[in-house]
Amino acid sequence: MMSSNNIPPNKEDQMIEQAYQNLLNGYLSSNHRKKVEVIDKAFKFARDAHQGIRRRSGEPYIMHPLAVATIVSQEIGLGSTSISAALLHDVVEDTDYTVEDIKAQFGEKIARIVDGLTKISGGIFGDKASLQAENFRKLLLTMADDVRVVLIKMADRLHNMRTLSSMPPNKQYKIAGETLYIYAPLAHRLGLYAIKTELEDLSFKYNHPAEYQRISELVIASEEQRNELFTRFAAPIRERLDNMGLDYEFNVRVKSCFSIWNKMQKKRVPFEEVYDLYAARIVFACEDESRAKRMCWNIYNEITEVYAKHPDRVRDWLTTPKVNQYQALHVTVMGPDGNWVEVQIRSQKMDEIAERGFAAHWKYKIGEGEEEEELAKWLSTITDILKDPEPNAIDFLDTIKLNLFASEIVVFTPKGETMTMPKGATVLDMAFTVHTDLGTHCIAGKVNHELVPLSYKLNSGDQVEIITSNSEHAKPEWEKFVVTAKGKTRLRAALRHQRRLTIDKGEKRFMDFLAKHNIEFSNEVLSQAIGRQRVAGKEELFFMIGNDEIMLNEDMVVKKEQGTRFNWWRRNPFKGKEEPKETTSVPSEAISTKGIYRLVTRDGKSNYQIADCCHPIPGDDSVGFLTEDNKVIVHKMDCNTLARLKASYGSRLLQTQWEDFSDRFQATIHIMGIDQKGMLQSIVNIISTNMSINMKRMNVTAEDGVFTCDMDVLVSDATVVTNLCREIKKIKGINSATRMS
Ligand code: MN
Repeated sequence: MMSSNNIPPNKEDQMIEQAYQNLLNGYLSSNHRKKVEVIDKAFKFARDAHQGIRRRSGEPYIMHPLAVATIVSQEIGLGSTSISAALLHDVVEDTDYTVEDIKAQFGEKIARIVDGLTKISGGIFGDKASLQAENFRKLLLTMADDVRVVLIKMADRLHNMRTLSSMPPNKQYKIAGETLYIYAPLAHRLGLYAIKTELEDLSFKYNHPAEYQRISELVIASEEQRNELFTRFAAPIRERLDNMGLDYEFNVRVKSCFSIWNKMQKKRVPFEEVYDLYAARIVFACEDESRAKRMCWNIYNEITEVYAKHPDRVRDWLTTPKVNQYQALHVTVMGPDGNWVEVQIRSQKMDEIAERGFAAHWKYKIGEGEEEEELAKWLSTITDILKDPEPNAIDFLDTIKLNLFASEIVVFTPKGETMTMPKGATVLDMAFTVHTDLGTHCIAGKVNHELVPLSYKLNSGDQVEIITSNSEHAKPEWEKFVVTAKGKTRLRAALRHQRRLTIDKGEKRFMDFLAKHNIEFSNEVLSQAIGRQRVAGKEELFFMIGNDEIMLNEDMVVKKEQGTRFNWWRRNPFKGKEEPKETTSVPSEAISTKGIYRLVTRDGKSNYQIADCCHPIPGDDSVGFLTEDNKVIVHKMDCNTLARLKASYGSRLLQTQWEDFSDRFQATIHIMGIDQKGMLQSIVNIISTNMSINMKRMNVTAEDGVFTCDMDVLVSDATVVTNLCREIKKIKGINSATRMS
């Protein structure tokens, strides 16, 4: 069929020619319409495009597309469009031709399939870490488009697996793992049983070479005995089937090495104890397929008259075929040696479907025009199966890896690495899974480049970045949205550790305080303190001191002569402000309280300190308070603490004026609204792009549709905050944005 060219055909050309003829012969003997022309054109196009390129094995590259096309035609049963696309499947990826070129030469349909294949491929043999899951995701996404893409991909993978020995071992391992994880279950779903079994066996061979070797040897070693047993088992049945005048084949089928190994692992039994190592299979010819089911039951009756059947092991896939249309009748009977033997009873058509899936259907189709229609029907059936992630049929559940659809998600790190997480996992779970430190210091996440709160539930395919801040620590309320076991364990450990540190800090403060005021530590002192603060015990007391919830107020220590020795503590109403104090340099000379005190910052040093209680920032109306050790603490004019200070220490107040706004000050903004998609993103946009403001911390909650957000920003002065709040309030859904003191 192929025209010979002028170059004297060397061995390689002969090999290519032979492979191509084999492809054509298979196609011509199929029931498909004979559209050889497009196949011929595709072959020549691909051959010329890959000219001079070799596979790792050393053979000309075109041998690979030829092999893939042959699988597509002969093992999957697809027609000329798929065969041509298979021949062209690596052209766009590996040569200078574009999808546009393919479209111009072969039309829209083939071009779309080739494009899909190129997109999925992205270098199956590449080095990037994410490929496995990335491919899978793309595969799933592409499937809805044209399922032929998936089927050809399957053929591509099968051929790559068959020729895997030419890859270096580390890649063999990776590719084999990926095949077992993604492609074999997919083949199973597609009803491509033979391909599924071969993929599993090949993966097993490369993942566990020694085990594979051992099991295949055991299978071979036990063959003679098995055949002997089978002959004895089959004899009385054969007699009856012959009497029925049946045209049939009665064979013994040994499980694949992978299935045997799987069984050994699952049941924890040695090879010898895998009871269903093999199954007997009766495949009978049947001219009128409508009689096939009845014939299956007739055969069943004959068998069960000879051997006792296992009451729980009759599988009637006749009345209700499997979702992938598998039909057969299975019965398990007690053989002459006292072992259970499964017998599978099928008509030839049923057998064909079992082995080749839906592809078998049109082998039995007569009539030219029906092909396209039948193809369309088949493809849409497969698409339906693939779209339904959890079909009820039990046969889909037996492949463990399918829980990929059900209970696991795959997400990506910013570097493109993949992580498998349980379904329902949040950003916080991911942070803790990566590292405890990342978990304890995280403040938010970016999912697919959009800012999200830590409680955000991840979806398969999400790209997730964790945003951290060293000044943040794990919070007890996080337990509400850590769902993974690992996350929970690590969060609790982190919280325990943090609590311990805070307790130690509090204890030290307490002891230092006592020492400074010449109070001798005793159990009595301790229990008085515990009693007065109404706390549970020593740990609780120290924890609250360490956490700034109880302050050791030096100003009031003098009250001890009034008999109330421990009045010098009070609960801190401004707890939770743990910001490190900015370095301040306060002039040593006495500060005059007359006149205006100018608040100056130079080279990061200020002649004042910002009050912890109200956090004034430049531009705020503020008042200075001169401490005993000659420091100036700046409060907001309307600060409550200042109001108290005014009453007792009026003479120490300073009128202040902000000199320069070069430094950055922290302000807290509280935002509330009705939760809407993209709200957080809009806020972040305003902060980061509309104005030059640094966000330090962000705490977002969305409960029952109400969105709340607290954030700390670093700004130069108060007008920036006012403007910021005004802008935020313009966002749709936001009700309020106010500065907190
Ligand atoms: Mn390929």
